[in-house]
Amino acid sequence: MGLLEEIKKRILRLIGRGFMVRGHCIRCGACCREMTLYFSGEKIRTEEDFKKLCEAWSYYSMFSITRRDPAGFFVFTCANIDDSSLCKIYKTRPPICRKYPDPYSFEQGHRLPEGCGYEAIALKSFEEFLHDEEKHIES
Ligand code: SF4
Ligand code: SF4
Repeated sequence: MGLLEEIKKRILRLIGRGFMVRGHCIRCGACCREMTLYFSGEKIRTEEDFKKLCEAWSYYSMFSITRRDPAGFFVFTCANIDDSSLCKIYKTRPPICRKYPDPYSFEQGHRLPEGCGYEAIALKSFEEFLHDEEKHIES
């Protein structure tokens, strides 16, 4: 592989097709009531995988299964959400809550709940960036 190809590959890896998150939390509590959880990078659809997740990180046991979404994945609700949609353990909430919404979760197909104050913005890949720049120069 030539040097240029290697540089391009590294830049592509850096830029990737990632997402950035913009906005802020408006404390609607929807994410705490309608949570998708992942085990080994996959959305959970079996009780066995949820059990394994709780064994690996005990704080996940604050979630309970409420239903399945149309694709068959479990939707979870947290026991720590209060009637005002606030977190009862806000100061000691676990890492998954502190970094929500994690930009990497959108790579796994995560979607924000309706009405969330955040939005996920897909970043351009390097090739898309070059393509757009070329079009811009040609015009
Ligand atoms: S759904 Fe969005 S706005 Fe609502 S509590 Fe969760 S992060 Fe905040
Ligand atoms: S611990 Fe708090 S922030 Fe985390 S899901 Fe439960 S209610 Fe929401």
